[in-house]
Amino acid sequence: MSILIKNATTVLTMDDTLSEITNIDIRIADGVITEIDYGLTGTEDTIDATGCVVTPGLVNTHHHLYQTLTRAVPGGQDALLFGWLQTLYPIWARFGPDEMFTSAQIGLAELALSGCTLTSDHLYLYPNGARLDDTIAAAHDIGMRFHPTRGAMSIGVSDGGLPPDALVENERAILEDCIRVIDAHHDARDGAMVRVGVAPCSPFSVSRDLMRDAALLARDKRVMLHTHLAENDEDIAYSLEKFGCRPGQYAEDLGWTGPDVWHAHCVKLDTQEIDLFAKSRTGVAHCPCSNCRLGSGIAPVRALRDAGVPVGLGVDGSASNDAGNLVAEARQAMLLQRVARGADAMSAREALFIATRGGAEVLGRPDCGQITLGKRADIAIWDVTGVESAGSWDPAALLLAGPTRVKHLLVEGRQIVRDGHVTTLDLPRVIERQNRLAQALMG
Ligand SMILES: [Zn+2]
Repeated sequence: MSILIKNATTVLTMDDTLSEITNIDIRIADGVITEIDYGLTGTEDTIDATGCVVTPGLVNTHHHLYQTLTRAVPGGQDALLFGWLQTLYPIWARFGPDEMFTSAQIGLAELALSGCTLTSDHLYLYPNGARLDDTIAAAHDIGMRFHPTRGAMSIGVSDGGLPPDALVENERAILEDCIRVIDAHHDARDGAMVRVGVAPCSPFSVSRDLMRDAALLARDKRVMLHTHLAENDEDIAYSLEKFGCRPGQYAEDLGWTGPDVWHAHCVKLDTQEIDLFAKSRTGVAHCPCSNCRLGSGIAPVRALRDAGVPVGLGVDGSASNDAGNLVAEARQAMLLQRVARGADAMSAREALFIATRGGAEVLGRPDCGQITLGKRADIAIWDVTGVESAGSWDPAALLLAGPTRVKHLLVEGRQIVRDGHVTTLDLPRVIERQNRLAQALMG
């Protein structure tokens, strides 16, 4: 199957020289970008990109899709991280496979409409028969490139942990299920639509042994590792008190550094930890809206990038954002660095780089995240003829003045958003179903 994108006003390639090309055509065949040139012709399906900025599809490196069913829960609206979790745990304990599937459909559709073509997900609770497979089915249906991670919690309240005992699992069962989902779904090949990762929820919800065993298992299976780290001051205090060290040290001691590891948040990393991450090429998923929403602080993204740490963006779960709009998240990342470091701390183009190629690097996907020959055809097409861009002197500075909803979106060369609508789902029906499930949880 091939597609021709015609007359792109500007293409932000995110290639090695960050080249920007104007009035150009792009040919796609079998999921790959095969030609970028002027005046291409052919008989294939054509997308008219006149008046559009074309970028690589955005990459989301941290999410909890299931949380789209618990947005704006009153008891958690104004709480800090630990109090927020304690409000939501009992609600999540009532989820099952249907809630996981439908909430993932909603979260993925919302991401797609905001230009995202590749997302990871961190699912760390499995009540009432829910499985990672429920979310993989949702991603398959919508046609999104998907890196689900098999999360876990094993230290419940009765053992001094944060989550209720009903939401924690036996550690042996966790590792066995990690092996099951990797064997069933993980695809290591170029162009893979599904890659599975191993992801104990956080140092405060699993044991030291599980952290270490998870790292050994992931290396044995050649899959990636993911968790939450150094999210806020409470998180650092917990680490110092329980483990006698800072989170960076804890991660290093247990095998949780390296190019096959990425950590969410890292708001509170100190200089030494930033050096450790840079030397080991450990990735960071920066989640600015969630950090603002929970009052966690401003992650040192400028310092991380300057040190050479791979940084991607994450919308984080929709219970702590509460939106899942990735292009809006990129704008927030740009603004937040400016709050901390001044107006020249991060440009619109750099924030967009983090949101595209940066994320692809964090997720170990050199085959994605740029518009160059031979890369996967994951492409976002933004209409800059609308009211948001009117009067812009530089429409390619999308994050300063541009749309927050994509016009067209291609994943692996397949158009999953056309004229602002998801083509692969009956979205109004899914929204209706999601709202019915939310009502039932409230009751
Ligand atoms: Zn998270």
